[in-house]
Amino acid sequence: MKHGYKEINICLAGNPNCGKSSLFNNLTGLRQHVGNYPGVTVEKKEGSIISGKYKINIVDLPGIYSLSASSEDEIVARNFIIDEKPDLIIDVVDASNFERNLYLYTQLSELGIPVIIAMNMIDVLKNKGQEIDLDLLKKNYGIIAVATVASKNKGTQEIISAVIETYEKKSVIKNFKTDYGQFISEELHKIENIICEDILLVRKYPIRYLASNLLKDDKFVFEKINKSLVERELTKQISESKKIISDKYSDSIDAVFADKIYTWIHSVSAVAVKTISKSKYDISDAIDRIVLNKILALPVFALVMYAIFKFTFTLSEPVVGCFETAMEFLAVNAAKVIPEGLMQSFVVDGIIGGVGGVLGFFPLILFMFFAIAFFEDTGYMARAVFIMDRFMRKFGLHGKSFASMIIATNGCAVPGLMAARTIENKKDRLITLMVTPFMICGAKLPIFALFIGAFFSAKDGANIMFLMYVLSVVIALLSAWILKKAILRGQPAYFIMELPPYRMPSFKGIFLKMWERGFMYLRKAGTVILLMTVVIWAGLTFPKANIQESENISEEVSASIQVEQSYIGKLGNLIEPVIKPIGFDGKAGIALIAGLAAKEVVVSTLGTIYSLGEVDPEDASSLAERLQKDPDWNKLKAITFLIFCLIYLPCIVAVAVFFRETGSKIKWLVFLTFWTTVVAWLVSFTVYQGGKLFGLGG
Ligand code: GDP
Ligand code: MG
Repeated sequence: MKHGYKEINICLAGNPNCGKSSLFNNLTGLRQHVGNYPGVTVEKKEGSIISGKYKINIVDLPGIYSLSASSEDEIVARNFIIDEKPDLIIDVVDASNFERNLYLYTQLSELGIPVIIAMNMIDVLKNKGQEIDLDLLKKNYGIIAVATVASKNKGTQEIISAVIETYEKKSVIKNFKTDYGQFISEELHKIENIICEDILLVRKYPIRYLASNLLKDDKFVFEKINKSLVERELTKQISESKKIISDKYSDSIDAVFADKIYTWIHSVSAVAVKTISKSKYDISDAIDRIVLNKILALPVFALVMYAIFKFTFTLSEPVVGCFETAMEFLAVNAAKVIPEGLMQSFVVDGIIGGVGGVLGFFPLILFMFFAIAFFEDTGYMARAVFIMDRFMRKFGLHGKSFASMIIATNGCAVPGLMAARTIENKKDRLITLMVTPFMICGAKLPIFALFIGAFFSAKDGANIMFLMYVLSVVIALLSAWILKKAILRGQPAYFIMELPPYRMPSFKGIFLKMWERGFMYLRKAGTVILLMTVVIWAGLTFPKANIQESENISEEVSASIQVEQSYIGKLGNLIEPVIKPIGFDGKAGIALIAGLAAKEVVVSTLGTIYSLGEVDPEDASSLAERLQKDPDWNKLKAITFLIFCLIYLPCIVAVAVFFRETGSKIKWLVFLTFWTTVVAWLVSFTVYQGGKLFGLGG
């Protein structure tokens, strides 16, 4: 007790954007300061109020959706509550998103600390034509809730009164306890009985929390448990209970628990949330009625994707043209400044031809990321996942798999592969990991842009690109279907998805996202791609071919002899027989192999090869123009090449992540290599030979 006041320590918890900070400011006014939680960069805001004989200390926790500790914010929030043991938690709930927000409440209330709900955004709810019966929540479920409108500083005093009242009556407060049903409760009891032996632990943590999280394989809780206890019976009991529950519900433990909680939440919402008048203007609902409509959903989704490509290709074309001209200008002038010889070749053919070729597509990447970030921030991409869930189930996948695929398309396969972690079911996760690399990531985009630019009109560009994306999804779905039928049988697990309301995105937000993802591309150009380009250039330049000056052959021929007799040229000849049936020559083969380092390297390698083959370094022509002139290429071959690039083995970084995420099992790595290569070859073969049969690409 300081200054004669009795101290109450409380914290504010809640989903992001529920109005937590607004409430915190209302409560504390200027009596607040900002620091950091120890060891992490998460911001910690603290403040206090004096009310009657109490000094209430308040900590504003980071915004979180659950306590599952899958993000730093969640870990910080959970550790704070468990280690600091505040006297009381205020759970700020966005009343207009009642069901989603209540999930966190169910978790908070398991921690053995009284929880008061600040039922915020009551005004928004009213505008939706609804209200929540707070008395009923208290009477039926023991939930204490106070209505607030934090943005208008309404309900603040009532919250303070409720805090004090609850604090004073602490002994009689009976917190709500999640009802998992009798079957699960029995299993929980068995585990609880064992944990009871660890008296120190039980004194520190609520036993129900320990038991249910042990069942859910929570590492954090496992760490807290006495090791000898774990080794003895606990591990056995846990796996036994898990099996019993999984068998009974034929689903993963997490899915069963989530299902129980959401069933309870739905029932609470059904009785407590009342519609008093028809919603006057719920724009989100109105949009969803069209966007999520059974018949319209897929066409709308296709339209959105098409719009993204149309936007990207149409608007980026002139900018990409400028970049190409700049690169040509650079090449021509470098050739003038640097005397003829190895150095000139290194700079002009290697660096400018290779890395410059990749950089040329930087604007296209930015346009694409801009368009995608726009749809992400409006809230549409979350709907896309929802829509595709229904569709994907037919192929044994579910919406979360599509989320991974969208993430891969939005930038890079690596975060897409990592997102698959949220898929509980092992088989579903494996299949998702297996098919995510088929997506056209940002790194594959320049390959597509290059060939489409070289062989097709700008008008067809967006259409071809769109078809390629459709193809990537089709191949992913078919692969999933085959895998599911052949080796990974089972039904995709049920999952729950929350749809955020639509929002007008802020340009700042979109620009930041675009830049963040675009920067990855730039950084790669300066590292992996640069390095690969040097290797490729050296491999094509050495050993020097034996060409007698007197032999009187044209420079053009001598350049091509050099490429042919180089190390990489020989490698190209070696693999040519394998790729001949799908229409590629050694040059394409080299590019494909080099592309395993990073997919952009396909472009930089072709850039170097064609630049070396160019007789006059001062002859300014872009790689696209050089490809066009090469008789070894035509439209059919270009399309086949793109299809091959779409399917074959992902880059080394993605492969490494795949390996890790599949539990570092060699067998899956071998399988991925085999599967992608064989499928790529077969599909390319069919397209190329089929195309020739129909007289295409003559
Ligand atoms: P936090 O992310 O939980 O800290 O949320 P903030 O306090 O930053 O609030 C997010 C947004 O919601 C801000 O624009 C607030 O002005 C607004 N807001 C907060 N409470 C209410 C409320 O009760 N009603 C309405 N209409 N808006 C609110
Ligand atoms: Mg905040």
